[in-house]
Amino acid sequence: MGWPSVSRSSARAHPEPSGVWSVGSAPASPEKWGPRRKMLLLFAAGVLSQYSLDVLALGHNSLQALAVRIVWSLGMVTSALLLDERAESSVRLHTAFQSAVASLSFAALVLVTGATASAYFHFFPCIPLIVCLLYPRDSTAATVSGALCGAGAAGLLWVEGRPASEVLLWAGVVVTVALIGAYGVHRFREAQRAENEGRLERARREALETLAISERRRAHSEKLATIGQLAASVMHEINNPVAFIGANLDYLEREVLSGAEVSREELAEVFRETRAGVERVRQIIADLRGFSRMDEEEPTECALADVVSDAARIARLRLQHVARLEVDIAENLPPVLAVRRRLAQVLLNLLVNAGDALEARGRHGSEVRITGRREGERVVLRVEDNGPGFPPHVLPRLFETFFTTKGPEKGTGLGLALSREMVEQFGGSLVAENREEGGARLRLEFPVSAAP
Ligand code: ADP
Repeated sequence: MGWPSVSRSSARAHPEPSGVWSVGSAPASPEKWGPRRKMLLLFAAGVLSQYSLDVLALGHNSLQALAVRIVWSLGMVTSALLLDERAESSVRLHTAFQSAVASLSFAALVLVTGATASAYFHFFPCIPLIVCLLYPRDSTAATVSGALCGAGAAGLLWVEGRPASEVLLWAGVVVTVALIGAYGVHRFREAQRAENEGRLERARREALETLAISERRRAHSEKLATIGQLAASVMHEINNPVAFIGANLDYLEREVLSGAEVSREELAEVFRETRAGVERVRQIIADLRGFSRMDEEEPTECALADVVSDAARIARLRLQHVARLEVDIAENLPPVLAVRRRLAQVLLNLLVNAGDALEARGRHGSEVRITGRREGERVVLRVEDNGPGFPPHVLPRLFETFFTTKGPEKGTGLGLALSREMVEQFGGSLVAENREEGGARLRLEFPVSAAP
């Protein structure tokens, strides 16, 4: 008989492009000659070579049997040439075609080797089973083969005038075997699918775990970065008040120990300044406490006049020897949605920067101005100074973290970067530009709060 044996490796499972595993089918291989095509060519050679079995069965050469085997193997070679292993539809079509060719060729072989008396006749029920083994993925192949072989066996018996019961018996046996084979194919596929689904599920779970781990790591490193930035900005903010508290103590020590006459007014001024410095540090610590509870703080409606007055109150301590501070906030300015303390922190950053920029110029004529206006559906705050403004090489880098022109002693390069980030958290924007008349302008824009 013309069937080469089936190796178990032909029923391996392969991943398909859709991610669903299939059994015994060709993988979506970029190779020109995939396993299925190679198998067909091998079987074509096997079918031809087993002509020797026909000679043994008949006891002589049979051109008819040879012709049947040639047609059969040509069918396989044609399939091998036309099959596109990457296309599911092509694989299905060729599987059905191969099943039909094999069943019809086998029936023809039985006919030319003695019909019901042929040594092959009793193998009719085996053909659908062999088809199942070769194509365990596709029960259509078993069905096609069962129908054709059943009809073939019954037809040969009927032509010879055998009793109807015998004809029906053979047809029934072949069809039953084909149905059992198709059922086996179905169960095999189910088992494979369950196994592959389990494998996919395991892979999915592993991927999720990996994702969760990397997410945790990312959150952790973000937290570390925030802590680093915070430490730097705390240093920046505390440096100034601590410096003038220290200067005042030096002055007191010098004057008191030398026994020099110090007027009560002067002493009161020194104490007032020192207390203001301590108050500033206390305020920073309070702000930091707020920062550590940042996640809990929900934005609320803030009147910009209040925010500006919070910031100006502290900034005046810095600006009083450097520049005049003017505040001009339009009446009835609509509220914005923000965390008041954090917005005040942003303004304070801008005012401290303005003070730094004006320091070298001397107080005379130096001015810092805050204006607040409504422009359509936006509220716009401008913080301007008449200092040197931003040099052209500085302007594009202002909002880069750690960009500073003040040197490591004084600047951290975090003020503007953090300020912009905070403003954006409240749906606003922060941009910097030079004023036409000279000096710097920081422009904050917020949408008018839509809260009821
Ligand atoms: P830092 O103040 O620590 O340097 P910032 O991010 O607040 O960090 O500012 C970055 C740089 O922007 C400053 O070093 C300075 O060169 C420039 N800058 C900020 N504000 C002004 C201003 N009002 N006038 C001129 N330059 C400014």
